[in-house]
Parts: sequence; C-alpha cells; structure tokens
Amino acid sequence: MTRVAIIGAGPSGMAQLRAFQSAQQKGIDIPEIICFEKQSDWGGQWNYTWRTGLDQHGEPVHSSMYRYLWSNGPKEALEFADYSFDEHFGKPIGSYPPREVLWDYIKGRVEKANVRHWVRFNTAVRHIEFDETTQQFTVTVHDYEKDAVYSEIFDYVVVASGHFSTPKVPEYDGFRTFGGRILHAHDFRDALEFKDKTVLVVGSSYSAEDIGSQCYKYGAKQIISCYRSTPMDYTWPKNWSERPALLRVDQTHAYFADGSSARVDAIILCTGYLHYFPFMQEQLRLKTDNRLYPLGLYKGVVWEKNNKLFYLGMQDQWYTFNMFDAQAWYARDVILGKIELPVHDEMSAHTQHWHDAEKNITEVPDMYKFQGDYILELIEATDYPTFDIEAMRLIFMEWKHHKKENIMTFRDHIYKSAITGTMAAPHHTTWINARDDSLEAYLQMSEEECKKVG
Ligand SMILES: Cc1cc2nc3c(=O)[nH]c(=O)nc-3n(C[C@H](O)[C@H](O)[C@H](O)COP(=O)(O)OP(=O)(O)OC[C@H]3O[C@@H](n4cnc5c(N)ncnc54)[C@H](O)[C@@H]3O)c2cc1C
Repeated sequence: MTRVAIIGAGPSGMAQLRAFQSAQQKGIDIPEIICFEKQSDWGGQWNYTWRTGLDQHGEPVHSSMYRYLWSNGPKEALEFADYSFDEHFGKPIGSYPPREVLWDYIKGRVEKANVRHWVRFNTAVRHIEFDETTQQFTVTVHDYEKDAVYSEIFDYVVVASGHFSTPKVPEYDGFRTFGGRILHAHDFRDALEFKDKTVLVVGSSYSAEDIGSQCYKYGAKQIISCYRSTPMDYTWPKNWSERPALLRVDQTHAYFADGSSARVDAIILCTGYLHYFPFMQEQLRLKTDNRLYPLGLYKGVVWEKNNKLFYLGMQDQWYTFNMFDAQAWYARDVILGKIELPVHDEMSAHTQHWHDAEKNITEVPDMYKFQGDYILELIEATDYPTFDIEAMRLIFMEWKHHKKENIMTFRDHIYKSAITGTMAAPHHTTWINARDDSLEAYLQMSEEECKKVG
C-alpha cells in the first residue's frame, strides 16, 4: 500500500489529515497516512506550553505563543470553508478570539473527521532521506513514549513542521553585560512578568506589536519599540515610544540610532524566525526567508526537484488555516494522481513568475490580494469548497483600517463571515479589559445575551 508521512500535526498537518479523510468520505481509496508529531497533542503553535528552551524530552520547545494571546487578525479571514465557526460554536462569537478558542476550533474539525489515530504523538522526526533506486523515503523518528528510535519507508512525505519556532537571535554590543533580562519573542510567555518595568521591544512586525501591546495591557511602566527600517507607525499610548535602530546597550541603558538613550529593565527581541529543517537530507531541505512565494516549491507546495515531497504552510502568512487547506487539498490530489504536474522547467518558471511578482509589491494591501489570488489558483484545481476570497480581502482592509484607528481597540470590532454570512457577535468585554483568556470565560454569555434567553 502507498504510504504517506506527514511531519507535524499543527494546523497545516491537520489540514492534510482532513484533506485525505474528506476524499475517503467520498469513497475514494486513500493511501496509508501516518503523521508524526513531537508534542503530546495536536494544534502546533496553538497548543500552548509554559515551557521555554527544551521540552520534557530535550526537544526544542515548538510553540512561540504566550498566555493572553488573542488572534491578531479577524477570524473571518482564516475560517475553514468546510467547517465554519457557526458549526463549531453553535452561535456567533467575536472576531478576535483568544488562542484557546481558536485551538478548540481547529481541533473540532479533525475530531469530527475522526483522524487522531493517524497521528503518532510524542514522536519527533530525526531524519528523512530519499533513495533514488527505490524512489522511496526512509523516515527515522524517535518515539519518546517507548524511547525507541526506528525507521520506516514511505512513498510520499509532507513537511508541515511550521516556521515560527527557531528564533533568529541577533547580538548587540553590550548584551553580554546587560544587567536585565534579554529574551527572544519565542520565549515570551506572560506579560505580567514585565509589570512596572521599562521594556525595550526590538523589531517592528507582528510579534513586536503584539508583545508590546501585551506589556501595555498588563501594566508595564514604559514600552520602547525600535525598528531597523520602517516604524510600525500606530498611535501608541502615552507610555509607548517608537525609536530608530538599537545600536548598543550597557549595563542599564539602550542607545539608539537617533542619538537617544533610555534606561531599560528588559529587552525582548522580536526579530523573527528561521525556516529550519534539521531533519531533512540536504537535497530535500527548503532554504528560504519568510516570504509570500518561496522558490523551489511549485504552487507553493510541491518540491520541484522531487515531486513526492511537499511542504505546507511555508509562506509568510496573511491567510492561514484556509490557505493550509488549499495547499493540503492540492498536495493530496497530486498524491492521488488527480493532478498531473508539468515538467520541472515549467514548474520552476511558474514559481519564478510568482516570486518575481511578489518582489514588485510595495503596499501591504497588495499582499492580501497576492495571497488571495494564490489560494484561488490552488482551490480551483481541487474539490475544496470555493469561497469568497474578495470578501476576505475586504475584511483584511477593514482590519488594517481599524488598527490604524486605534491599535488598542481594533480587536473590539466585528466582521461578517465570508463562509456563512453570519455577523460576528461583539464580545462581552473589550480586549483591553478582558484579563481571562480561557475558553470558558470567552464563551460566557454577555449580560445582554443572558437577558435575551431569560
Ligand atoms: C506568536 C504567534 C502568534 C500567531 N498568531 C496567529 C494568529 O493570531 N492568527 C493566525 O492565523 N496565525 C497566527 N500565527 C501563525 C501560526 O503559525 C499559524 O496559525 C499556524 O500555527 C501554522 O501552522 P503549521 O501547522 O504550519 O505550523 P505549526 O503550528 O508551527 O505546527 C507545526 C507542528 O509540527 C511539529 N513538529 C515540528 N518539528 C517536528 C519534528 N521534527 N517531528 C515531529 N513534529 C514536529 C510541531 O510540534 C507542531 O505541532 C501565529 C504564530 C505565532 C508564532
């Protein structure tokens, strides 16, 4: 029997599981599917851990998520086309749910699909190699439950191990002797640690914006963020200032490119992540920076030099869950022989075309359009339910506008689902005042709702 190995049971790996199960549901013969997941549960980044550094087995901790994390984009832009929020929660909820609520949602679909037995948990992939003679892969893994290392043979491999886990950590002059705490965003867990402290946030992308906002919400005395090229440029609260590049630190102070300096208690490096696949044989290893269209992957998914290998979710992400679905359905149909691939040169010319088009993008809204077009191209090739991608693009536009309006209140806005047409319900508490990020607290009814149902 044909065998498929999926590496990782995060949202991308779970999308691949669901893609195969949905074909099976339609009476199509599917290969044997085995998903290796090094954590004890599925959900990838959304499976929160308090740990940092190494996990209980000595594996690098995967998740970079922290307590009190709420979705940083509208849930309406990541909704599955085959499993709506309405179906999962049975009632409209807010547009920016906390981590646990979204985790519950992504788990709901694969629990319904009953595919958990395809996953081998607590099993880290150590090495993947391709044999040109047999045209098969040898996948070597470490099963931590049995403490056994073993290898198995597969016909196809789908790498879905994510790319927001291996921190990119710069070194600045003076770091060795700085008197406070220095950490990367990957190790940030709880903003309460920085209550009454002056925090320097290095970087200007999502992590910087959100970790700074967390520190503000949970009572940091002062937040300073600094950027290398472009400021985030929001209207910050009074105790948050934005400065140009960090040059150096001494024991107590940070020094910036505009000649200014500030006394800081802690430095959080929101300096990004590396695409890192230490388990891949050299000729199979994806090497890219974080971009919308990496080279070497036809349709952003198929390894051009060996069409039995796939990578999911390796793009910079505006869209997430539904993009992973589009990719997983595409990979599935290549594996099932439903999609015929062009010859190598044609594939790489196609990729180069998209890659070059990305380089010409100068405005952020054009990125939403670019990634939306990419998703459409994928879903047109499969039976993944098509959806109104233009409506989602407009949601992204509103989101951007709401952030510009007020970076501390954008999460209080709501949007209409492009899948079901349902308008989200305003959350019972504004984001800045909501301190409990649990699923129970989030799903509690507002006073108004309580009154309605008596
Ligand atoms: C701090 C932070 C906040 C984010 N916020 C949002 C948000 O608000 N909204 C949004 O849509 N997206 C957000 N994202 C993006 C997030 O990465 C995606 O939503 C999604 O989790 C990516 O799914 P994935 O399956 O590709 O990767 P991951 O979620 O990273 O999952 C990869 C899985 O592979 C497993 N794995 C890795 N290596 C191995 C190995 N060698 N052997 C076995 N298993 C392995 C991991 O344990 C993990 O379970 C955020 C990301 C971060 C880091």
